Amino acid sequence: MDKLRFQSFGSGSSGNCYFIGNASNGLLIDAGLGVRSIRKNLRNMGLDFENIWGVFVTHDHADHIKAVGPIGEKHRVPIYTTRKVHEGIQRSYCVTEKLYSSRKYIEKNETIEVGEFKVTAFPVSHDATDNVGYTVEYKEKRFTFATDLGFVSEEVAEHLSKSDYMVLEANYDEQMLMQGSYPAYLKNRIIAKTGHLSNDQAGLFLSEAYNERIKHIFLCHLSRENNLPELAYTTIQNYLETKKVKVGVDVQLVTLDRMNISELYIF
Ligand SMILES: [Zn+2]
Ligand SMILES: [Zn+2]
Repeated sequence: MDKLRFQSFGSGSSGNCYFIGNASNGLLIDAGLGVRSIRKNLRNMGLDFENIWGVFVTHDHADHIKAVGPIGEKHRVPIYTTRKVHEGIQRSYCVTEKLYSSRKYIEKNETIEVGEFKVTAFPVSHDATDNVGYTVEYKEKRFTFATDLGFVSEEVAEHLSKSDYMVLEANYDEQMLMQGSYPAYLKNRIIAKTGHLSNDQAGLFLSEAYNERIKHIFLCHLSRENNLPELAYTTIQNYLETKKVKVGVDVQLVTLDRMNISELYIF
């Protein structure tokens, strides 16, 4: 009953939201989908907002914060993030219902306990008001979320390589992006150190950082225009196999769907 559970409700520029918890309660990482679909997905698991200890927000881009207003103020779920991200949320055009009593501030590199979970925010390089990833500890298990990041810094690498499970961005294929129809400024924004992580960047990092603790890699935030799930998967599989790491044997690799709920993983 109290095993670790993970489910993606959606992953990408149309909206990001992940559940991490157990059979009776848990946390959300980001709330970038509509409040109704988030609730529907929770109810599929036999849960509701009253079973959510908090929403942990990575940054204030619309695809990560769309539903924080109603979840925080109407459903009374605490919304945790850094002071700067909260300021960005208050200014954001896409958050019509502003946060008051549900606003909870956290500091980077400090671990807080919510229910049975310990959560640590760490800095990532991206172009929102402020940007963090999260490591969630539950019993002996560690699950790290690193989405929307231009590169894997030492600090991010340390969190990821000490985790059993991870959600890691594989946003774009470099060739698809460069040959695609995006205007130059947007291409430059994506490839910048404050942009997004490519399949090659994710793969190279994973091939260097892989260790036996890492059991499950979920690739997230795949671009609709500049990536394909099979391409992200095989690119990263190839990087891992150059280090004799067998996907499906040594480590499980999953690409998270942009629009659809993933299966429920129970670890
Ligand atoms: Zn995003
Ligand atoms: Zn972003």
